[in-house]
Amino acid sequence: MKIIAYIVAAILVFFGVLFIWGSFSPNGSPGWILIGLITVGIGLVIIFFVSRRKAQAGNADNVTLNIELPGNVQMDTLKCKSCGGTLKPENITMVAGAPVVTCPYCNTTYQLTEEPKW
Ligand SMILES: [Zn+2]
Repeated sequence: MKIIAYIVAAILVFFGVLFIWGSFSPNGSPGWILIGLITVGIGLVIIFFVSRRKAQAGNADNVTLNIELPGNVQMDTLKCKSCGGTLKPENITMVAGAPVVTCPYCNTTYQLTEEPKW
């Protein structure tokens, strides 16, 4: 999928450059510069987004805990059981398939349990 996007982007940039180049030739028209710039621009935008998505996927591979957390855990309201400090997603690690919280404030380590909503 990424490779296809790169190929499409490369083709767009290639034809965009050809249009810009062609506009300076005797047979070309000045309007081709605009078409060429737009085409190159679209190609560069595709490359930009694909490379950025690739970088994000790499980070997700390193962390791998965001997906595996229990469904109803609300990260923005998660607080330490011992000291009440606000916990961040990076304070949670997966140990034996269960999310374990290590509090950065009081160094308490405990297993994260899913609280019922009622
Ligand atoms: Zn704490």
